[in-house]
Amino acid sequence: MILQVRDLRVSFPAGTAVDGISFGLERGRTLGVVGESGSGKSVSSLAIMGLHREAAVSGSIVFDGEELVGAPASRVRELRGRRMAMIFQDPLSSLHPFYTVGEQIAEAYRLHLRTSRRVARERAVEMLAEVGIPEPRRRADEYPHHFSGGMRQRVMIAMALSCEPDLLIADEPTTALDVTVQAQILELIRKIQEDRAVAVMMITHDLGVVARVADEVLVMYGGRTAEHAPAREIFRSPRHPYTRGLLASVLRLTAGEEEDGGRLPAIPGNPPSLLAPPSGCRFHPRCARYAAAPDDACVTEAPEPRPAGPGGATHRTACHLIDISGGRR
Ligand code: SF4
Ligand code: MG
Repeated sequence: MILQVRDLRVSFPAGTAVDGISFGLERGRTLGVVGESGSGKSVSSLAIMGLHREAAVSGSIVFDGEELVGAPASRVRELRGRRMAMIFQDPLSSLHPFYTVGEQIAEAYRLHLRTSRRVARERAVEMLAEVGIPEPRRRADEYPHHFSGGMRQRVMIAMALSCEPDLLIADEPTTALDVTVQAQILELIRKIQEDRAVAVMMITHDLGVVARVADEVLVMYGGRTAEHAPAREIFRSPRHPYTRGLLASVLRLTAGEEEDGGRLPAIPGNPPSLLAPPSGCRFHPRCARYAAAPDDACVTEAPEPRPAGPGGATHRTACHLIDISGGRR
């Protein structure tokens, strides 16, 4: 395991954004982390990267055998960029407009590996070529605004990979791109993950993205785990009512039903407020299962993830009304 997260909690003065999630990630594997906005998926990844200095983080984040919760900020900074890298939805906000992309990749590389400028510059060109940017030597001298959205995301990936990280966290990396470019970037991430045996944490609200790249899926709701299983099981035999709702809305969309503007799947109701989360199971106000046959446990007790599927212990669901044989109670 390159990354082992146990009972991670991330709290801000206004509320708890991540309330006890656990998962492990092996080298060369991709974990899709899915949920609506506010589900805690981005906050979890920022906590892993040590980028939430203002938050109270507890539980355990073990990266390649080293505990990061409570580790000195300087140590986490050392790992960040060098061994754990991150890409975001909007590459423009992470790229400096006044430096060429070649300079920026070279700088990131030099900062971590302390090479000469010449070596770093060669590395930048090599990385641009690897992520599929044509004429990399010439394009290295261009500025971010000369690149299209998809090409800028390739530049970010080149920068993230230049130091050969063991873990790549991608937070909605294709959300701002059109469908064709999105597919190309996902394909690139998939290829990199295979060629370099890098572990990828792919954060997305989009099950289509997960279907393309993930080996394993963690579905988050209200800062907690709803379901965690191998990708194929999530799609073939989803157990949690929330996962089922997400999948059903994707199928409706593919079938051509209207979606009113938003990208979020059409499960009635709103994501829970972190200030005053619902009691018991946080999904109960929106749960079709609960609405059909209300059960006291749903409003009094927070369900813990437990084995609930053909995959045995690898398929875990946090729902009171799913029995461990995988059927319904
Ligand atoms: Fe729905 Fe109850 Fe299961 Fe929560 S625990 S998902 S409210 S059935
Ligand atoms: Mg987010």
